[in-house]
Amino acid sequence: MTAPASGARLARLRDALARADLDAILISSLSNTRYLTGFSGSNALLVVTAKDALLLTDFRYQTQVGEEVAAGITVRIEASSLWTGLWATLPSLSGVERIGFESAHVLHKDFQRLLEQGKRWQWRPSVDLVELLREQKDAEEVASIRRAIAIAETALGATVPRVAPGLTETEVAGLLERELRAAGSEAYPFASIIASGPRAALPHARASNRVLAVGDLVLIDFGAVCDGYCSDITRTFVLGKASDLQREIYEIVLEANQRASGALRVGLTGMAADLVARDYIHGRGFGESFGHSLGHGIGLDVHEGPRLAKTVEAPLRCGAVVTIEPGIYRPGWGGVRIEDDVLVTEAGPQVLTSFPRDLLELI
Ligand code: ZN
Ligand code: ZN
Repeated sequence: MTAPASGARLARLRDALARADLDAILISSLSNTRYLTGFSGSNALLVVTAKDALLLTDFRYQTQVGEEVAAGITVRIEASSLWTGLWATLPSLSGVERIGFESAHVLHKDFQRLLEQGKRWQWRPSVDLVELLREQKDAEEVASIRRAIAIAETALGATVPRVAPGLTETEVAGLLERELRAAGSEAYPFASIIASGPRAALPHARASNRVLAVGDLVLIDFGAVCDGYCSDITRTFVLGKASDLQREIYEIVLEANQRASGALRVGLTGMAADLVARDYIHGRGFGESFGHSLGHGIGLDVHEGPRLAKTVEAPLRCGAVVTIEPGIYRPGWGGVRIEDDVLVTEAGPQVLTSFPRDLLELI
């Protein structure tokens, strides 16, 4: 991350702190820490006040933290517990009385530390303060997501011609994950889903030892990671010639995907976006077979805000990157899901994924 990006993100957080009537916030989410400072280590506490930003980590990251963290952030390497360092340092930060803590990320044992060792400050639970900032991606973040998508699509392109009857789902996952690494993925954002035949009806199936057979639907849901940012893509193929029902259901899911992607606008609620796909699938007679929500934000986490779901009244904001992933699942028969990653801009939606969406009959 560049220093200007970190500076701009800290400035937005400070505006949010002022609006929330907080003097400071204690960040314990590692993704939020990475977003604000660039630091990608696995052990950190971050305190941000109107003037200061203080990052505490341990000896293992002494070199890395210097390479990653932008100017303007004070780094303390703690020999013992980060909490010991926090209590030693907090009193030196002036004008700090009311401190927010991330209620979604603080363990109960750490909350007790706030009440006991930190009792001279007023601790206020805060929800999604940084997460809401992260919903609006800046240019640097969008560029990283685009790279993560390119890596995933390269890997899928290299894997698909090798998917054949006789391979197990796990073997297909192995081929795909090898190609992801070869294309430059830093990690796997989640265990790749390879679901074939009747197992394609399980929306969150893991790859199993089921052997692929002619006539199967093969659903592949996976992603890549680049600069810490995730992509998340699903394509569904048919092994052999598609049956009429496989083709009909595929076309319905594809139309729902494209209608929803095309409808995304700044200001559209998550609920309204979800309904675009849901109403279409319902109208085609498969409403009961689309049981999950339409999509979710992607970024440093593969599932983050904003959510596109029946209950979400929050409007989409400029810079959101969301998945659009309608599906139809029929127990005992199989399922189809088509998932793309879409950037919401003032000028309308930009579909970032470009892997072909026409029904591909393998072999
Ligand atoms: Zn996915
Ligand atoms: Zn997804």
